[in-house]
Amino acid sequence: MRDADFFCRWLLAAAASIEREADRLTELDSAIGDADHGVNMRRGFAAVAEALRSGPPDTPGAVLVLAGRQLISRVGGASGPLYGTLLRAAGKALGEAAEVSDEAVREALAAGVAAVGRLGGAVPGDKTMLDALTPAVAALGEGYGAARAAAQEGALATVPLRARKGRASYLGARSVGHRDPGATSSALLVAALAEVAG
Ligand code: ADP
Ligand code: MG
Ligand code: MG
Repeated sequence: MRDADFFCRWLLAAAASIEREADRLTELDSAIGDADHGVNMRRGFAAVAEALRSGPPDTPGAVLVLAGRQLISRVGGASGPLYGTLLRAAGKALGEAAEVSDEAVREALAAGVAAVGRLGGAVPGDKTMLDALTPAVAALGEGYGAARAAAQEGALATVPLRARKGRASYLGARSVGHRDPGATSSALLVAALAEVAG
């Protein structure tokens, strides 16, 4: 079973990983976007870490809802509302339980990913964060390590894709040949989850 502390440790590990990789995320976004993805993610996850450290909630659901709210309110870019929605919807799906099963975590993250799809209108293959998140959630039934590998593979598989959503879609065929920044940050978030799940 997973408690609120587990979800706090996940998001703090994610914040540390985003901090380490922020320059690389921004570099990826400079090729097919507006060169701010690392800046956006760093700002958002620093706010999440700060909020969790100053007042850690009691339940897994409340941790994710708090983190989602921080991302929505603190990040200007498209990724803030999208990741914020992912965490908020997942948190709501977890309800008010003090401890949740890995099966409940899988279902909650699936609900979060579905909410991202509804908000942004993207589907897998559109060269977005969903190209990492969707296979990760599908693989979660086989464990957190399998989800990490699937997210990593999904992020890498965005290179030959043509972007159909977000800023990168303005480039049309010129978006081909570059790795999607959001799929790359999604792989970091899933890797952080696998790291704390042990
Ligand atoms: P912005 O594009 O507003 O500058 P960011 O650079 O922080 O925001 O985030 C860009 C990332 O957001 C993209 O690499 C992509 O993965 C993701 N993204 C953009 N639009 C969508 C969408 N409609 N659905 C899902 N993900 C999206
Ligand atoms: Mg950007
Ligand atoms: Mg931007």
